Amino acid sequence: MKKLTVNDSCIGCGACIAVDSDHFDFNEEGQSQAISNDNLDSAELQNAISSCPVNAIKIVDGTDDKCDDCSDCHGACAK
Ligand code: SF4
Repeated sequence: MKKLTVNDSCIGCGACIAVDSDHFDFNEEGQSQAISNDNLDSAELQNAISSCPVNAIKIVDGTDDKCDDCSDCHGACAK
């Protein structure tokens, strides 16, 4: 299963959340977090990925062992 992630390089600019609030929201640290793995082919998600100034957003293969165990890593395994 594909999984949407935001890694720790996120600077909290909010661009992805403004473009695609179905997939992203701020976490308690003021960084973006992925909130859904639905519709990963959507145009809004592609726009959100393109809008990120630090390329923090990745779609990873969730069959990876690290991702199977991951609950809230913000994409650490995708760095
Ligand atoms: S666009 Fe990138 S840097 Fe900005 S909040 Fe989203 S993930 Fe973080």
